[in-house]
Formats: sequence, C-alpha cells, structure tokens
Amino acid sequence: MIIMNNLLLICIILSLVHCCICAPLSVGNRGEANSQCSIDTSYISSPGDFKIPTKDRKYLPFDENCEKSWKEPFMFVQAADTQFGMQEKFIEKIKENYGWSKEIEWSTQLVADVNGLTPRPKFLVVCGDLMDAWPKTEPEIRKRQMVDFKRVFTGLEVPLVCVCGNHDIGNTPNNETIISYKKDIGDDYFSFWANGVFFIVINSQFFKDATGSKELAAEHEEWLEAQLEVLRIEKPKHAVVFQHIPWFMVSPDEDDEYFNVEKVLRKEKLERFHDAGIRYVFTGHYHRNAGGFYKDLEVVVTSAAGVQLGDDDPGYRIVKVFKDKMEHEYYNLGKAPREINFTAPSTNHIVTLN
Ligand SMILES: [Zn+2]
Repeated sequence: MIIMNNLLLICIILSLVHCCICAPLSVGNRGEANSQCSIDTSYISSPGDFKIPTKDRKYLPFDENCEKSWKEPFMFVQAADTQFGMQEKFIEKIKENYGWSKEIEWSTQLVADVNGLTPRPKFLVVCGDLMDAWPKTEPEIRKRQMVDFKRVFTGLEVPLVCVCGNHDIGNTPNNETIISYKKDIGDDYFSFWANGVFFIVINSQFFKDATGSKELAAEHEEWLEAQLEVLRIEKPKHAVVFQHIPWFMVSPDEDDEYFNVEKVLRKEKLERFHDAGIRYVFTGHYHRNAGGFYKDLEVVVTSAAGVQLGDDDPGYRIVKVFKDKMEHEYYNLGKAPREINFTAPSTNHIVTLN
C-alpha cells in the first residue's frame, strides 16, 4: 500500500515536471487544436531585424519532421497586395511626398484580425506586392515603406510567409533586385510542410519576364522541379502553391494580359503542377477576387488587403484545410467571425466572379 502511494506520488510529480518542461515548447501553439508540433517563435523579431526566416530554401518556423504528418483540420490566412503607397501614388496621383497611412491602417487591421481568430491560424501568407515603390527607381521611398511594413507585421502572433511580387523585385527582375529582396525580406522562393500539407512558395516573376535574370530563373526552375519530385515521393495530404501573378484570372484559355501569365507557358506549368498532384494555387496581383479551374486544379485569385481595382473591399481569405479538401472564403477587413466553424462549409468555395 505504501509502495502504491509512493508510486502515485512519483507519477504526480513526474507529470507536473513534464508539464513544466513541455510548456515552453508549446509557445506559439497555445494549446489550440490546429497543431501538435512545436513552432519556433524566434521568428517574432523586432522591426529592426525583421526577416522571413528561411534557410536553404526552407521555411524555418515549422519543424519539418513533425509537420510531415497529418494531425487534424487546420486553417491558414491568405492575403495579397498590402502594397504600402499605392493609394496615394496610384489612386490619388500624388506625385511628391506621398504617404501610405491608408495601407498602414488596412494592414494593422489584417494583423489584428488574424491575431484574433480562433482556432489560431497556422500562418498568414501575403502573396506579393508587400510595398508599392519599385526597388530600382524608388529605393529611398521603398526603404521607408519597408520600415512601416515591418513595424506593422511584427505585431503578428502567427508565422508570416511572404511571397515576392512584381513591385518587390521589379517587372523585369535582375540579380540586384532579387539580392536586395533576399537581404531585406528573405528568400524569394522556398517550401515547407505544415500538418501533412506541402506548401511551395514560388517567384512568379520568372514566368512573366525572366529576360534580366535568366540564370536565377533556371535555378528556380530546377528547384521547382525538385519540389514536384518531393510531392511524387512523399504524397502529402495536399500540395499548395503560393505565387503573386495568377496563371489566369478566370479561365486557362483566356488571352494574355498584364494580370496573367502567357498562355503556352501557363498551360505547360499548370499541367506539370496537376501531374505532380497540386490542386490549389493561391495568388494575388489582380486586386479583385477571381479564379477558376485547370482540370481539378483550382487557381484562387485573392483581392488586395490594400487598394482595390474592382468592386471588392480590402480583405483576406480564410482557408480551412480538411483531410480530403480545402475550403476558402474571402472576408472584408474587420468582418470575419472571430471563431471559425469547421463544421459549416464556406459559402464561396467555388469562387464567384464580379
Ligand atoms: Zn502585382
């Protein structure tokens, strides 16, 4: 009896010690249902040394070994085109000394919305055009926009994934603009596992105009093919691509224009993606909600968390990831429910066009 009591006591002490040891490892998870893997919170840095944490084209906050396996349904938030500076420069046509207070306000609301969601999103991805000022012709303005971008997004309490857009590396990127993006923000392409899903972040500018960056585009191509090989070998629950420029806005057969990728390359890549098992591509650039299908691969075009060029309001997309499907819904800033219901289907899984 005494031995039993002692054993019980030892068990209680051990479980208390275990809790104390494990608690710091769970920081970032906060006990929510969307993850059982630990998240490296060192990515929450001060605005001064804010950078998207990647190394060797891998996104560091998630533990790859743990994240390779499916645990349970989870969600992430996708936004695009925060584009600090576009309102006053492009819409209001202010030529000199323009600011970006509107974009600061919108992105601050985006961060507050994401921080307030239950369950906690696995991450927030911003699909390009983080800032408006061009790296080559407006470097000083861009620098100031970046200070504010980093200050606002340092307030985010979940991992941030950034995708590079044409405004971030230029319409015709070159070594210089890509190196400066990597130095200021992080890798321009990388991949990661999260809860059994494989996410591939690509640099879509190489598909729009690689005339100034042929070597880098070739490296990107080789890397992308290696990622498709990962899919074939590992067979994740879902394979998802994040990119700035959509392959198409509405239909894979639509004509070439500023907002999409040239048709022959578009179809070739969509077929490669489809063949490798990718069924979701999330994009931005269009500043309107749109999207469509290539076979059963869905290209989702999400409107801006900044300036609109259509009838939408600034917002973001909440993506619910289930074992057998993904559902997504666009919410205006400040208008999403704080608690996301995983049993009620999202209403606009099939995107409706304006
Ligand atoms: Zn763009």
